[in-house]
Amino acid sequence: MPREKVKRGAGWNFDNSYARLPSTLFSRVNPTPVRSPALAVLNDSLAVVLGLVPEELQEGEGLAALAGNAIPQGAMPLAQAYAGHQFGYFTMLGDGRAILLGEQMTPSGERVDIQLKGSGTTPYSRRGDGRASLGPMLRECIISEAMYALGIPSTRSLAVVSTGESVWREMEMPGAILTRVADSHLRVGTFQYVNGLGNLEDLRVLAEYTLKRHFPDVEEDGDRYLSLLKEVIKRQAVLIAKWQLVGFVHGVMNTDNMALSGETIDYGPCAFMDAYNPATVFSSIDAEGRYAYGNQPRIATWNLTRFAETLLPLLHADPQTAVKLAEEALSEFPEQSRSHWMAGMRSKLGIFNEEGEDEALIERLLKLMHRYRADYTNTFRELMGNDSAGSALHGTSEFQQWHESWQARLVRQAESRSSSQLLMRKSNPALIPRNHRVEEVLAAAVQQGDYRLMHEFLKALSDPYAHTPEQARYATPPDASAPPYRTFCGT
Ligand code: AMP
Ligand code: MG
Repeated sequence: MPREKVKRGAGWNFDNSYARLPSTLFSRVNPTPVRSPALAVLNDSLAVVLGLVPEELQEGEGLAALAGNAIPQGAMPLAQAYAGHQFGYFTMLGDGRAILLGEQMTPSGERVDIQLKGSGTTPYSRRGDGRASLGPMLRECIISEAMYALGIPSTRSLAVVSTGESVWREMEMPGAILTRVADSHLRVGTFQYVNGLGNLEDLRVLAEYTLKRHFPDVEEDGDRYLSLLKEVIKRQAVLIAKWQLVGFVHGVMNTDNMALSGETIDYGPCAFMDAYNPATVFSSIDAEGRYAYGNQPRIATWNLTRFAETLLPLLHADPQTAVKLAEEALSEFPEQSRSHWMAGMRSKLGIFNEEGEDEALIERLLKLMHRYRADYTNTFRELMGNDSAGSALHGTSEFQQWHESWQARLVRQAESRSSSQLLMRKSNPALIPRNHRVEEVLAAAVQQGDYRLMHEFLKALSDPYAHTPEQARYATPPDASAPPYRTFCGT
């Protein structure tokens, strides 16, 4: 008897808790279908973790869902409302080109947002076209997946689908849709939006929702909203320290781009630093360096202060007491972030125990790296014994002196040399998504439709602490004569 082909379906298992929130928080809107969707990238391993069937997402209904041409069963598409401070100025925003399909309930019981980015206009699109172009969506896919593999909380990329339609930026570009996966898309700006509406009850509902979704361990009785503030601060302290440790420059730390889950979100003008310099800025529109590498901890404090302001009415009935509570909580951030960073730096140097002089030792190294324009990632690789050819830093007597202090420091701990080496291997990536490499793989993919380089690159980035010989070839910094790398917001 012929066996009938069993259609398994893609495995969507949606809940829609966001759609049950007060209706001011979103607008129900469907994606706008596109002409001829084609799969550019599918993240098979992520699909499996989400309980999805990769083969089913590659064609037919599965692919149509990733293109916004079909609504998967159980989804309730909506665009989220939010506000935000952009470069310091307050604006009403909302998802102008992103649509939340719903929350996928994964086999391991997680709840994650599935969002289509570039899926057409929404009531919040203002003058935008609601679309995205292929290069920047592939770029988000590479960098977000690299961040995840580096151990940095991040939204993830399930798929990129080209639309067969053009978008106009500075010129005509191929259009694409990215399927973004996030613990949630709640932002500082979501609270700013609700606070701005002045409805205290909605603010309370949103705060409860955020607590339930991200901080379920916060006790029922007690200062729940103060705990919310403190927990958000804690997660950002971890996140920003992790950015600093790998040399990541977010580039557009507006309050609408700060996720309350503590994930890195919004890979527009971000980039990784090559030569160490705290003033590093990549974004073409950040002329003042507001979001420079070295400013990120300060900007995070600024953003968290905006978040705290929205919570004031919930913190205490007496406004002055509320402000005092918020200030106390906020004052913790710099020290928290600094101590995560210190712990990370010690690990990068193979140090297990703590000594008062460690900070000075680390600062001395950074100062030398800055002075001699040493590559940030490779300096640490070189300390692990990797090839240091071409590094001006290594030839200097100042560095030799520093190296001796470091070696002497390593002797003052119980752990062996080999454990120290092992710690360094786990703490210093073999590679980061360097800008010139990213551009190279994007050019092949977008201009020639050749995705081989991209797949090789994604593979190398997927295990950055493996230190394989194949990864070494991605370690080369850009040519010193290359013009400074620039990123753009209009993606
Ligand atoms: P971003 O810089 O990506 O955080 O975007 C800032 C705001 O602009 C958000 O509200 C986006 O949804 C919106 N936006 C960005 N690009 C577009 C576009 N092409 N069409 C409509 N809205 C957009
Ligand atoms: Mg954004």
